[in-house]
Amino acid sequence: MRILVISDLHANLAALEAVLADAGEVDATWCLGDVIGYGPDPNEVVELVRTIPSLTCVLGNHDVAVLGQMDDAVFNTEARRSLLWQKKQLTDGNKGYLENLPQNALVLGDVTIAHGSPRDPVWEYILNTLVARLNFQGFETSYCFVGHSHIQCMFQLDLIKDRVSLEIPKVGQTLALTPRAILNPGSVGQPRDRDPRAAYAIFDPEAGTWEPRRAAYDIFAVQERIRAAKLPEKHAARLAEGW
Ligand code: ZN
Repeated sequence: MRILVISDLHANLAALEAVLADAGEVDATWCLGDVIGYGPDPNEVVELVRTIPSLTCVLGNHDVAVLGQMDDAVFNTEARRSLLWQKKQLTDGNKGYLENLPQNALVLGDVTIAHGSPRDPVWEYILNTLVARLNFQGFETSYCFVGHSHIQCMFQLDLIKDRVSLEIPKVGQTLALTPRAILNPGSVGQPRDRDPRAAYAIFDPEAGTWEPRRAAYDIFAVQERIRAAKLPEKHAARLAEGW
């Protein structure tokens, strides 16, 4: 069984298309939120997401903000500029689709999925072992998949030594998972781990494996679209280097 795990698409259509093509045939897709924000194609990305079969998707902080369910003053100036532009662009149909997605963590078999963290699904970043340790108490399943930090990584809780480790797994390497772990597939539309290729992962619940993967796409064309829409230059520049 192959489950495609994606997160932080951020209105980057070319990156999402590259991931779907690179992943090939899958049995289900789990999306960890932030479908919109930052990028130039909010409607196109929501529309493509809507066509993905067997999709489970939770909302991220950018999605919640665009729906007007959060004060956008909490975002920095550049992120807010993109959000206001996207708010204007999004069709009622696409807004309605996002409005019906959950903001809370979901349990899917032996996995909990959330945008940020299981204990604070929309906002908390899991960036270090201390925050990861606190979050291992926030879910009951063996595994938890989160996005939000845009960094492809794995936090492993060693139950015997009671130790939490942070690992950056090698791209394309299939990891045999052992309970318990918090896994981040990285970001499709705006990677921040210095690898500009779109990030995602393939999870096999039967084999108990996780394969972090990357897909190359035409970054230059997306940068041009960001500039044409007069969105912040920073959001174009960072795509080329993955920060
Ligand atoms: Zn994000």
